[in-house]
Amino acid sequence: MGFSIIPRIRINSVLQLTPEFLLSRDISLLMLDLDNTLAPYSGSKPSEEIFRWKERMNKAGVTLFIVSNTHTDRAKNFAALWGVPYVNAARKPRAEGINKALAQTGKTAAQSALAGDQLFTDVLGANLAGLCSIVVEPIELKNLFYILRYGIEVPFRICRRKEKL
Ligand SMILES: [Mg+2]
Repeated sequence: MGFSIIPRIRINSVLQLTPEFLLSRDISLLMLDLDNTLAPYSGSKPSEEIFRWKERMNKAGVTLFIVSNTHTDRAKNFAALWGVPYVNAARKPRAEGINKALAQTGKTAAQSALAGDQLFTDVLGANLAGLCSIVVEPIELKNLFYILRYGIEVPFRICRRKEKL
């Protein structure tokens, strides 16, 4: 899709994604942003629901992979608890982290999607790298900065109608 902040797919939460939905699009690697996508910024443990969702994905042959821009140990700790591979300091929208995940899994960009809550990092990064871009609603808008940033994104978000899943 190239240089674009318009997502290919728009949903409320990653938990709505099913293996059937992804595999029908030939997607078998799902990269996931961490902060505000899988957990709030303050949350460091995967929820029960997130665990069950991962089991279902893995059983059906969809690999999950955390690709986070965080520089702290948050992604490492979350990934270890969850049992999912990760890269941190991924520098989305740059391709480094995305390419690491592709190399580690042996998947191609065409077989992969990246789901995240932000257009200028997650969606732009996915589109530049040739992955299917999936935008979710942020888990929390905890301060004015996040609210303003979200406000800027809205006109681009609504270019896509929310997928009914
Ligand atoms: Mg995020």
